[in-house]
Amino acid sequence: MKASILIVEDEDSLGILLTYNLENEGYEVRLCTHGDQVDLFIDEKLPDLILLDWMLPGISGVEICRRLRLRSQTRNIPIIMATARGEEAEKLRGFDVGADDYLVKPFAMKELMARVKAVLKRSAPDQMSDKLVSGDIVLDASTRRVTRHMADAENKTDTGVEVDLGPTEFKLLQYLMQRKGRVFSREQLLDNVWGHDVYVDERTVDVHIGRLRKALKGKQGFADPIRTIRGAGYSFNDKF
Ligand code: CA
Repeated sequence: MKASILIVEDEDSLGILLTYNLENEGYEVRLCTHGDQVDLFIDEKLPDLILLDWMLPGISGVEICRRLRLRSQTRNIPIIMATARGEEAEKLRGFDVGADDYLVKPFAMKELMARVKAVLKRSAPDQMSDKLVSGDIVLDASTRRVTRHMADAENKTDTGVEVDLGPTEFKLLQYLMQRKGRVFSREQLLDNVWGHDVYVDERTVDVHIGRLRKALKGKQGFADPIRTIRGAGYSFNDKF
């Protein structure tokens, strides 16, 4: 699954240049040009990273950053702030409101790519690889297999038990495992796992989460890694 990046930049030419370069690197990119529209873009689809300009028409980048950090669903989205002002005080203010990294304009594309990669890797190291491992669960995207493992330290054995998942449950698990600990509403899961063009009821998510849980539990009664957050949605529990 491609990491998705939301660029918030009001300078048209720079916005286009950033979009072009990030798409070339294989990211899924959306461009927002007005501070007031950021929420709309985020509600449409939760990005994996936001590249946020400081000076924007409407709500400023700093204010956007501060607000995103207050909402549970956007709290952990990595943010790289970009600004023409390179002063140390501004930089500190950027970090103060919760930016993960900071770029001073004009910056080289190579520099940006390196920062994007580093920040993504920090926030979701698993997203970069085919194999996701969490506790006793191993998801291999290249073979589309999920296994749960019973390690026996005494005999130095590791028995893998295959988890039988349908394609939707597989995608759902992959999406959640790539973003451990983050809480997703049913609507967000529908948009990001099922896709925008599919028109299904939000209860469909509950049905598939139920199936996923059942399959993960298996005959052996393995622990449930999925957390239900009342009134908010679901998340993959890092410690289960
Ligand atoms: Ca600007």
